[in-house]
Amino acid sequence: MTFEDIKKRLEKISKLMNLSEKEIEILLKFKRIIKKELEVDGKTYEAWRIVHNDSLGPGKGGIRFHPNVSEDEIKSLAFWMSLKTSLVELPFGGSKGGIRVDPKELTEKEIEKLSRIYIRNFHEVLGQDKDIPAPDVYTNQQIMGFMLDEFEKMEGRHEPGMITGKPFELGGCVLRDDATSRGGEIILNLFLERMNKKPEETRVVIQGFGNAGMNVAKMLYEQGYSIIGVSDSKGGIFDEEGINIEKMIKIKKEKGSVIYYSNAKISNKDLLELETDVLILAALENQITEKNADDVKAKYILELANGPVTSEGEEILQKKGIIVIPDILANAGGVIVSYCEWVNNRVGHIFSKKFMEEILKEKICRAFHKTYELYEEQKTETFTMRDAAYIIAIKRILKAEKARGNI
Ligand code: NAD
Repeated sequence: MTFEDIKKRLEKISKLMNLSEKEIEILLKFKRIIKKELEVDGKTYEAWRIVHNDSLGPGKGGIRFHPNVSEDEIKSLAFWMSLKTSLVELPFGGSKGGIRVDPKELTEKEIEKLSRIYIRNFHEVLGQDKDIPAPDVYTNQQIMGFMLDEFEKMEGRHEPGMITGKPFELGGCVLRDDATSRGGEIILNLFLERMNKKPEETRVVIQGFGNAGMNVAKMLYEQGYSIIGVSDSKGGIFDEEGINIEKMIKIKKEKGSVIYYSNAKISNKDLLELETDVLILAALENQITEKNADDVKAKYILELANGPVTSEGEEILQKKGIIVIPDILANAGGVIVSYCEWVNNRVGHIFSKKFMEEILKEKICRAFHKTYELYEEQKTETFTMRDAAYIIAIKRILKAEKARGNI
């Protein structure tokens, strides 16, 4: 999704909220956009760190390593982080970073070098009170560990709260690994309760079988949902009778792709068009667009990935009566647990797992109920759950801007 697309979405929201020109200007403004060229062993890679709005607190947002990373994409992702942290009432703003690289072409040593060089180039704008990175697509705990180590070497002091999603021994949080999926699972259960639908009568298709997709598959499978289709970048599997997710996870881990599960293969395009109750999008942006939205047969879509449905795509889905549970709500579990990790690091205490699980549940449930209630209240042919979530999030940001005297 391009930032132009976001602007279109904002136009709709600003009419609904009756925003002033000044308020729109504030929402479209970026606090900091930094681009650098990183050099590793004679090769150069473009890299970014972008902070959108930080009126509610320091920037918070992942770092992704992907060949399609661009400034426009990082801007969009930073913008969504501002809305997400606001919606779930965290003391953070929104930011994002990335390197345009195909990590599959690099050795582990080269990935470590690249991660350290990223920090050497950006350390001045990072920090627990400035801007706090975390893992995202094709970055992980170990990479966060390298980044923290490099940051502390550069700054000459310990500061574990400058990054989240790091290894436990460096101040990481036990819940972080499956927090995004845990949040998505809670949201889906709350939503289906409102739809009067039980897990055992719900068919689910999942696009993407990485951290977010695999973990949510496991949780839903354990609760009795019938997972009839899953896919990764190599292709998908469809089984009307339900896939054995434990076996699927084993195969994915051993052989590297879900496609080795059975002969019942399906393309990613066809997977998105399967007849199902729930379609979970857990891969990348722009998966449902004006080109394929009309062929989608799911009743509900849960956006675990960021921006998997474009605004043109969503208009078509809305006309067809398909409800989209928006990314800034559905995948907020990760950033809530990141917040727990950041608090742990700042106060030098490690809260119990149970306590942090309660925080996750409380914040995500509260955001769901507020969003769903506004959605129900305002529901028209064009008003979406995303509109409701955006309105709640934007209100809080603008209140902070007002409190700072900027409006
Ligand atoms: P990941 O790298 O672990 O997994 C991505 C998965 O998508 C992989 O299985 C990959 O094979 C698959 N994939 C890639 N291209 C595909 C395609 N065209 N069709 C089908 N599958 C494809 O990443 P992740 O951490 O699981 O993140 C997935 C999405 O969720 C991203 O949009 C990310 O921004 C979002 N997200 C993740 C977290 C988190 O905590 N992991 C938090 C918030 C949002």
